[in-house]
Amino acid sequence: MDLIHLLPDSVANQIAAGEVVQRPASVIKELLENSVDAKATDIQVFIREAGRELIQVIDNGMGMSHTDARMAFERHATSKIKQAADLFSLHTMGFRGEALPSIVAVSELEMRTRRAEDETGVHLSFSGSVLQRQEAVVCQKGTNIEVRNLFFNVPARRKFLKSNQTELSNIITELQHVALANPQVAFSITHNDTLLFKLDAGSLKQRIVQVFSKQVGQQLIPVNVENDLISINGFVCQPESARKKGALQYFFVNDRYMRHPYFHKAVMECYKDLIADGEQPNYFIYMKVDPASIDVNIHPTKTEIKFENEAARWHILMATIREAMGKYNAVPAIDFDQADAPDIAAFDPSAPMPHEPKVSFNNDYNPFKKSPVMSNWTSLYEDFSNSRDGSVGHLPESQNAMPSVHVETIPSRMDMGNGTAGNDDTEPLPSRMSTILDDVPDYVPPTTQLVDPLHQAPSVEPHKSVYRKYLQVSSRYIVASTRQGMVLIDQHRAHMTVLFDRYYQQIRQRQGISQQELFPEVIEVSKADVPVMESILDDLRYLGFELDSLGGGSYALNGKPASLDKSIDFNVLLQQMLDEARDEVHGVGDELGRKLALRLSATQALPYGKTLSEEEMSQLIDSLYALPDHTYAPDGHLIAVHLSVDELDARF
Ligand code: ADP
Ligand code: MG
Repeated sequence: MDLIHLLPDSVANQIAAGEVVQRPASVIKELLENSVDAKATDIQVFIREAGRELIQVIDNGMGMSHTDARMAFERHATSKIKQAADLFSLHTMGFRGEALPSIVAVSELEMRTRRAEDETGVHLSFSGSVLQRQEAVVCQKGTNIEVRNLFFNVPARRKFLKSNQTELSNIITELQHVALANPQVAFSITHNDTLLFKLDAGSLKQRIVQVFSKQVGQQLIPVNVENDLISINGFVCQPESARKKGALQYFFVNDRYMRHPYFHKAVMECYKDLIADGEQPNYFIYMKVDPASIDVNIHPTKTEIKFENEAARWHILMATIREAMGKYNAVPAIDFDQADAPDIAAFDPSAPMPHEPKVSFNNDYNPFKKSPVMSNWTSLYEDFSNSRDGSVGHLPESQNAMPSVHVETIPSRMDMGNGTAGNDDTEPLPSRMSTILDDVPDYVPPTTQLVDPLHQAPSVEPHKSVYRKYLQVSSRYIVASTRQGMVLIDQHRAHMTVLFDRYYQQIRQRQGISQQELFPEVIEVSKADVPVMESILDDLRYLGFELDSLGGGSYALNGKPASLDKSIDFNVLLQQMLDEARDEVHGVGDELGRKLALRLSATQALPYGKTLSEEEMSQLIDSLYALPDHTYAPDGHLIAVHLSVDELDARF
């Protein structure tokens, strides 16, 4: 008996659909490209539940005849090419005739379509590949396709879909590609009855501004060239606007979005030395080439495209960008302008020689006599030598004697003298630092630990002693003496860790504290980032940022964390947070709240180079050592290095 038989079309289509339709976003891409191919000037997209329930695309394009409408769902049925040779003069997005039969194989699909010249349109309903109904209808010119219950008959695929957030974000990415390639077409997208964005037909620059933001628009530098091999237009950006994450990088060839790592290198080459390591510029580059010189035939879902004469085009691209940047002064040129140059006279040997500067000093000066700080070091020394165990020069040995109440200050000589500390059984000079560093189990954390140590009101009771507990080195490290030796603490990481602990707790406990703004600032978020923004709004509120949506990607910033430094640019911070969140949405990161808290803490943490007062160092270190984990910062970096006396001894 023979074993081989042909698969029914419905099965073949379902298998093929595996290639073409991987997720709701693939459906959007195919439907939008069909609408653009049909010369639509207005395309509306309606989505429910990130495309699981409904994906609907309505266009005002050329529509289809009754027969074509039915034909369109047959495999390899297309109006776009007739023979293989047509592939070399392709001016449409589609050509395979695979999209509609693939989509219909894995969904419940309805289509209404009418050509301008027809009086009635046609309405088709399918369940899987099976046509349920076909009838004439009165409908608008153009095509309206509703795709419901995607993968209803392929449960494994349906289960495999990611969160709504991720799927919606992928949908928007596909829509962005088509919208950026076709600024002459108006688009709108509505998700669960909320209009996510509406893009009017206009120039390319207007489209970029509408899809992203005014800010992105302001940083654009036009590029333009036309020759036999290629015509290029579009925009690159000013080097200052390059960013570490989430750069907007788009290549289009013959109005089709593509990825092209080799051409990307050409752009990067132009920014070499103009942007910092790891930064990426925005670019929107549109190439037009003879369709015969590219191969778009690689794979329905792949965005790589092969070019002939790639090297020559690479050089043209690079030269064009360089020229554009030069024109817009993005590249520093050698400046021969003499107007503000300092006047340096030519050397004249006959002129009188200038006097040598004189240095005078006081031979009797003794810094140890005069300095108030040093006199206290001296008194401290005396205190220690007088104390019971006679330990000198570093913090006391006993940990048991540590009073359970936290003590901010070290008793002054006077206190000890009148017996409060020195005469009872407790050790003098209690210091939280010393005990905490030794991990005393019954340590009671100070109640102030949830307050940013550097924005705390000055303690009511000032330090009674100016005993120098901490030393700052290079405005970067804090050095402290411990029972077993010494510790070097990285100030930025320590502060970041303390802040992180507080912010992360706020997120976990779902309670934020913010300070109301008198004059709320209006923040603009790229339209494409609106869903990402919506997904982080709650966490931002717990962090202390109160944002109210004004629609269309605008938000009023009504409150900020009270401790936030005025110099922090919220727009920049928010952009970084959105970048983190976008990665998260695409499933590459770990917990989102943690990342946001970390980003805020890192931005706000003490920079290197900042000189700290005794009080600040003390508060910072106390807060740090009040945390259960004070060895590693939340980003995994080491906070402190301990050097034992043995290690120190070994060096001498
Ligand atoms: P392809 O786009 O590769 O030709 P599709 O399966 O996507 O294959 O579409 C099949 C055919 O259906 C197209 O060639 C086109 O003639 C017609 N068609 C699809 N969508 C539309 C639309 N929105 N408006 C007009 N015609 C359409
Ligand atoms: Mg198509």
